[in-house]
Amino acid sequence: MKDFSFNLSTRIEFGKGYVTKAGEIIKEFGAQKVIVITDKGLIKAGIVAKVTDSLQASGVEYIIYDGVQPNPKDVDCIAAGDMAREYGADFVVAIGGGSSMDTAKAVAALITNPVALPEIMKPYKVPIAPAPLLCVPTTAGTGSEVTSFAVITLTEEQRKSCMFDDKLRPEIALIDPELLLGVPGPIIASTGIDALTHAIEAYTCKLATPITDAFALHAIRYIGRSLRTLMYERTYESAEEMMMASLMAGIAFGFSDIASVHALAEAIGGYYDTPHGVANSIFLPVVFEYDIPANVEKHKDVALALDIDPVGKSDREIAQAAVEWIETLSKDVGIPTLKELGYIEPERFEQFADVCMINVSTPSNARAVDKQAYIDLFKKTYKK
Ligand code: NAD
Repeated sequence: MKDFSFNLSTRIEFGKGYVTKAGEIIKEFGAQKVIVITDKGLIKAGIVAKVTDSLQASGVEYIIYDGVQPNPKDVDCIAAGDMAREYGADFVVAIGGGSSMDTAKAVAALITNPVALPEIMKPYKVPIAPAPLLCVPTTAGTGSEVTSFAVITLTEEQRKSCMFDDKLRPEIALIDPELLLGVPGPIIASTGIDALTHAIEAYTCKLATPITDAFALHAIRYIGRSLRTLMYERTYESAEEMMMASLMAGIAFGFSDIASVHALAEAIGGYYDTPHGVANSIFLPVVFEYDIPANVEKHKDVALALDIDPVGKSDREIAQAAVEWIETLSKDVGIPTLKELGYIEPERFEQFADVCMINVSTPSNARAVDKQAYIDLFKKTYKK
């Protein structure tokens, strides 16, 4: 067993209708001025009002920044950070998926650190504790409500980069599974497989620990039995299990790591703005298959957690069956293939492989990957 630290400082509040508790929780912190970080779609969907009504009812003053874009951009973090500083915000609320939560983490850090964004866009480079952050996740995907990362797109460089520091972990994750019931089908699909990717990479990567394994395997079980139900039947129970899976997968990868699926996904996401969950879903089966030889046992465990029938199969065959299981799930929920995206230029695979090689999570992948291996993974995925 390897040595490790595990300190989940985030308070988790999880339950039906809990979104209306935001005001009373924030009041406990003695916050005077709150900045709400979100996007226009979530305002239109009526989700932001549920939180702001609760702030009003508790007498908490607030302003709203609604300029978050998918694959959040550095320029928007800077604009929101300037708005927060001018307003004198002392507390941050994120409402949305990973894009809103990651923008909010950058804003919380910019409120207390009198520097420009590039100075804190480096590992362990948030010197002063950020303003307290409460996250209301509205997708079951990223788990950002409990992680110490923020993935931000550097617009000039056309690549995604990461700020990470334990101080970035949100104070509170306020999780209301009911918010998932109105999410459009394609977003449920891609964010759900994103959560599955987090759980699988956390479990199979080199930095996994027994604690992260427990969270990851449980998340895989929940997703295996609930993603299709949420997609097609919209039951509250499936929303509950998917929100819990996303949270547990976030805890798992937050204390172990992600790996090569993310390196590939972020390379094309940074360049083409491909939605993060879609990109992860596309690369997951190919990387899973590539990784099996490095750790058959753990890949078999994933298959068993997905409830794949092991009877009459060798360990290797059980693990391999998970590849087909994931591919079928992707087709069933309408994930496009890499080629079907329609804008991928295979002549850039070498350039993207270079980006993968500098991804901080590449060394964690279960099986060693070099530039040629990444090029081959791009080519193999493109043929599917
Ligand atoms: P997202 O936040 O980009 O949201 C995608 C779209 O879904 C948006 O248009 C949003 O308006 C819409 N949406 C969200 N919730 C909705 C709801 N309840 N109803 C209707 N529409 C809704 O998507 P995401 O997949 O949650 O986040 C992806 C981002 O998170 C990527 O940038 C990725 O790199 C990052 N990420 C961060 C971490 C972390 O730990 N910080 C982990 C994984 C991924």
